[in-house]
Amino acid sequence: MKPAQYQRLQQLLACPTAPFREALVVAEVERQLQASSVAYFFDPHGNIVVGVASEQAYKKILNQRSKEPVRVFIAHMDHPGFHGVRWLSSTRLAIKWFGGTPKKHINGSRVWIAADDGLLVKGTVKKAVLRKDKRALNTAEVLLDSPISENKKIAATKLFGGFDFRQPVWKSGKRIYTRAADDLAGVFAIIETAKLMRNKSKAAKQPAFIGLLTRGEEIGFVGAVAHLELGWLSKAIRPVVAVSLEASRTLPGAVIGKGPVVRLGDWCTVFDPGGLKVLSDLALKLLPKKFQRRVMDGGSCEATAMTAWGITTIGISLPLGNYHNEGYEGGMDCLNPCGPAPEFVHLDDIEGELKLCAGLMKAGLDWGDPWQQQRDRLRKNLKSYQRYL
Ligand SMILES: [Zn+2]
Repeated sequence: MKPAQYQRLQQLLACPTAPFREALVVAEVERQLQASSVAYFFDPHGNIVVGVASEQAYKKILNQRSKEPVRVFIAHMDHPGFHGVRWLSSTRLAIKWFGGTPKKHINGSRVWIAADDGLLVKGTVKKAVLRKDKRALNTAEVLLDSPISENKKIAATKLFGGFDFRQPVWKSGKRIYTRAADDLAGVFAIIETAKLMRNKSKAAKQPAFIGLLTRGEEIGFVGAVAHLELGWLSKAIRPVVAVSLEASRTLPGAVIGKGPVVRLGDWCTVFDPGGLKVLSDLALKLLPKKFQRRVMDGGSCEATAMTAWGITTIGISLPLGNYHNEGYEGGMDCLNPCGPAPEFVHLDDIEGELKLCAGLMKAGLDWGDPWQQQRDRLRKNLKSYQRYL
């Protein structure tokens, strides 16, 4: 990866974020898109639609008469984190957590605290209470290292935070450790693909690209569902293929560093077989022996929402260490097994994902009849064995 591109990745990964508190990611996304003159607009729910300048331009693309499907790449800008609830004193903040967390060793762990205009202070978690189902942290207190100087003016509810490590992002070999690879690495891939398409579209006619950067994914794909409820995508005249870009818990057969994963499904459902055939064929061609393929059922993702709303959906995943900051895989800055830990991904997997995204934007892929070659092969096979029938 070129240094400038890696720097853009680093800048995104360094953004503090939590469900419904994506403002700092939004600001960085806008900065990067503007620097490359990529068009974008906000839908009524604060999701960013990348590649088109307005609702009208988006609908125009969806309603063009074309056999080439519109590719809608989707990634989320949030990551599990907490909101401030109320001040208990000038250095004690009651918090509520949104999304997944470690279940162990939460008390005493370090957290960062931010407001929409930036990082403010660090602190330590006390009095952690898990949810009733015991699957994640529900509420706790955060003991601030020092009072926020203007804390009387900052309402507790304006604050948000998450687990803190030595740095927001750092590299060890080809591993990238960070607070929130899920899903800021996906956001990065969409911005890079949008930049690529913007440069190419000057030279040649390219299939339509849309990026959808959503909010509040970690608690039921809230931003994506709000976008789907607008009805814009489901009313499209032209075919649509949604491509979910995620970082998903590493599993046997989805090993960190062995390449991006053609995601056949998530915890909730399998994805579109025809679309996955196109993606698998593409991966075989572009990343021979450097991609993986499996159902990533360590969690569910926005592809489930897209599928539930009737949209043809496929997925690409980066195998992710320490999913949702739970130290399953351990490594740097993981003080206790299964306690809070930085997530990590592999640079080669990200580069592979970028290749797949660019490949999906090629014109003339077999979206209309992806099984034709397979049928031909099977017919030939039938011919050679017919005499045994
Ligand atoms: Zn995610």
